[in-house]
Amino acid sequence: MVHLSVNQRSLESQGVLNLLEREAASFMDGPANDNRSTEKPEKAYASPFLGVAAGDDAYWEKIAQAAGERHWQPLEAFKKAFPQSQIMAGQLSVLVMVCPQTPETIQDQKASSGFPAERWIRSRFYHEQIVGALCEHLAGYLMNLGYLAMVPDHLNDFTVYPHERFQLASTWSHRHAAFVAGQGTFGLCDALITKVGKAHRLGTVIVNCRLPVTPRSYSQTYEYCLFYSKGSCHKCAKRCPVGAISSAGHDKNLCQGFLNSTKAIIKEKSPDLSGAYGCGLCQTNVPCEVRVPGH
Ligand code: SF4
Ligand code: SF4
Repeated sequence: MVHLSVNQRSLESQGVLNLLEREAASFMDGPANDNRSTEKPEKAYASPFLGVAAGDDAYWEKIAQAAGERHWQPLEAFKKAFPQSQIMAGQLSVLVMVCPQTPETIQDQKASSGFPAERWIRSRFYHEQIVGALCEHLAGYLMNLGYLAMVPDHLNDFTVYPHERFQLASTWSHRHAAFVAGQGTFGLCDALITKVGKAHRLGTVIVNCRLPVTPRSYSQTYEYCLFYSKGSCHKCAKRCPVGAISSAGHDKNLCQGFLNSTKAIIKEKSPDLSGAYGCGLCQTNVPCEVRVPGH
């Protein structure tokens, strides 16, 4: 039997998010959150913050309607991990982790044009061993408290697939989960603009307990983006080396083509990052880089 530092009753109280945030911060202070550089070893991400969405929030249905039936709702994903469970959607919570890029990574990326900074590529390349591991750690923490918890994008049948309307879609979207969990709204470039801007990585965990839901302080999908709210800005489009962002939105195929093309250059410049690819230039040196513009 695992020793519990908190009991289930306290987990469902208002202080739980702080508790989970402390656990997440402690994990990110540990050895997993390392950029694996032999020359400049340092933290890959800054301290994370958390949000919570209810498993039966009406937005899940809206997302499923827009994305199509291949996109999972929380209950569907949860039952893939725990098929014997008799749980209802309203008994689930979706916990979202927002892991900001470090100030050093943002500074380097900001100074880059045409090709991403090494620090940015590094944090992206190792994000699964860091942010993915953080999600597994929190799921394990919740399991030790007696709950059932799982990481949806770690399911075997998680996949990214061509989509008629969105070009590319996935069976689970951290960004949409973060939107439902009150963490921010979308920008012209498709990234989620949070209270720390859009230079971050996201992760999610689904758990069978009702955690206190984080309120959404917005009503529109693109509310925080200056292009959609004021018809101005377009700074992310100007940062894109291949013109993948326009008033029509984000051309994911063009973007993906550029990401793929970075592989060979990265391998040549940094052999230890062989296999890495990335860009993210549209996420820095823009008004929504580290804040909600105008807030
Ligand atoms: S840079 Fe401007 S147009 Fe692009 S997402 Fe941010 S606020 Fe919107
Ligand atoms: S990630 Fe790079 S290629 Fe893709 S939209 Fe942003 S700037 Fe353009």
